[in-house]
Amino acid sequence: MARYLAPVALLPGGWAENVVFEVDSEGSLQSVTEGLATVAGSVDARLPGAVVPGVVNGHSHAFQRALAGGAETRTAAGDSFWTWRDQMYRLLGSISPEAVEAVAAQLYVELLRQGYTRVVEFHYLHNDPTGAPYGDPTEMARRIVRAAERAGIGLTLVPVLYRTSDFGGVPPTEGQRRFVLEVDSFLQLVEAVQDWSSSLVSPGFAFHSLRAVTPREMEAVLESVAREGLPCHIHVAEQPREVEACRNWYGMRPVEWLLDQLPVGPDWHLIHCTHMVEREIQGLARSGATAVVCPTTEANLGDGIFPLQRFQSLGGSLAVGSDSHVSTSPVEELRWLEYAQRLVQGSRAVAADQDTPSVARALLTWVWEGGARSAGIDAGRLAPGQRADFVVLDRSHPVLTGRSGDGLLDAWIFSGNDTPVREVWVAGRRVVVDGRHPEGGSVASSFRAVMRRLLAPA
Ligand SMILES: [Zn+2]
Repeated sequence: MARYLAPVALLPGGWAENVVFEVDSEGSLQSVTEGLATVAGSVDARLPGAVVPGVVNGHSHAFQRALAGGAETRTAAGDSFWTWRDQMYRLLGSISPEAVEAVAAQLYVELLRQGYTRVVEFHYLHNDPTGAPYGDPTEMARRIVRAAERAGIGLTLVPVLYRTSDFGGVPPTEGQRRFVLEVDSFLQLVEAVQDWSSSLVSPGFAFHSLRAVTPREMEAVLESVAREGLPCHIHVAEQPREVEACRNWYGMRPVEWLLDQLPVGPDWHLIHCTHMVEREIQGLARSGATAVVCPTTEANLGDGIFPLQRFQSLGGSLAVGSDSHVSTSPVEELRWLEYAQRLVQGSRAVAADQDTPSVARALLTWVWEGGARSAGIDAGRLAPGQRADFVVLDRSHPVLTGRSGDGLLDAWIFSGNDTPVREVWVAGRRVVVDGRHPEGGSVASSFRAVMRRLLAPA
C-alpha cells in the first residue's frame, strides 16, 4: 500500500485540503482521507498541486495520428468527410505493425501529457495491406497494447467488426480490406483481448457503424459477448449522408433504428450522435447509453454540432474522444464542445447551471463519469474502489495563479494551450513528471523515423 498527500484535491463531495490517498498494489484507491492537519507516519510522495480525476479519451483510432495536419490541402471542389476518408485509406496502403506501434506510442504520450489517463481504442486495422490476416491474427492489437504499456496509459481495447461498405450488405471496397474480419475471427480477437486484462488493459467490442455490419451479424455477436457486460461501441449519425442512407434502407434514422432494434442500454456507447431529432435525443438519454462526442474531429470533418444542451437537460451520459487526433488535448475537446454551442446560440456558459455555475466543472464532471463508463472501468471520482487515475495541476503555473476551487478548472480549460498539467498518475503509477514523460524522447524518435518513411515521396 502506498500513501500520497495532496495539498488540495477535488473529491466527490467537493474541494478538500490535505488529502491522503492510499493506493493498493492493483492501482486502485483504497482510502481517501481529507483534512488531516498532521499526517501520521510517512507518505510515499507529496503531490505538487491540485489533484483532479484524469479524463478518459472515449474514442481513438491511433494510426490516424499520422494523418493529423496532413489532410488540410484542398483536393477537389467540395472537400468533405468522404474525401478525407479516401486520404485516410491511402495512408493505410503502407502502414506496418511496427509503424502503428510507434505512432500509437507517440500519441499516447501526448494524450497523457495533456491530462488524459486512459484511451478507448476503436481498433479496426486488423489485416495486412493485401487484406490477409497476419500470421498471428492478433498482431495489430498486440502492437496497440505494447504502445499503451510503453506510454503507461490505461487502455480499453475495443476490437471492431467491419464487414460491408454500405447498408444492405454491399461488399467492402479495396480501401476497406484491412478492416474486414469474419464474425468468428472477430469473436476470437475479443476473447484474446479479454485474456490480456490487467491493471492497465481492459476489453470491449464494437461494430464499426450500421453501414459496416448487417443486423444478423450484430445479433450473432451480441449473443456471444453481451452477457459478459463488456462496453459496446458503434459510430452513428456522424454525417447527413449516412442518415439518409439508413432511412432509405431501414426506413428509420440510425439512432432511432438502434434504439428500436437492439438492447441499447448503459453498456452501449454511441460515437458522434451528431444528427438526431428530438425523439432520438430523448430515447438515447433514457437508454442510459453514453454519447461519445468528438468535437475537434467533428469540426475538422465538417460533421455538425452535437445537441449538447438538450441532451444535458435530459440527464444523458456524455464522454469525449479525440477520434482522428487533430487534437491530443481534453482541454481543446471541452472548449470546442462549449464554444460551438455559444456560437450557435449567441450566449455564454451553456453547459453550466445554477447548481454548477462553473462551465469547466460542469463539463469535466460530466465526462469524468461518462468517460469511465465508456471505458468499462471504475474511475472518474477520487473515492475508495476507484482507479488511482489522476492529474496534478500546477497551482504556480501562470494560468492558474491566484485561482482556487472550480476557478482552477475554468482557468485550465479556458486559458489557451500552455498546459498546467504537472503530473499524471495511472493505476497508482506516476507517468508524467514535471510536465514531461520520461519515455518521451525515445518514443518521439521512433515516431519521427516512421513519419519520414510514410511521407517520403514514392
Ligand atoms: Zn471514429
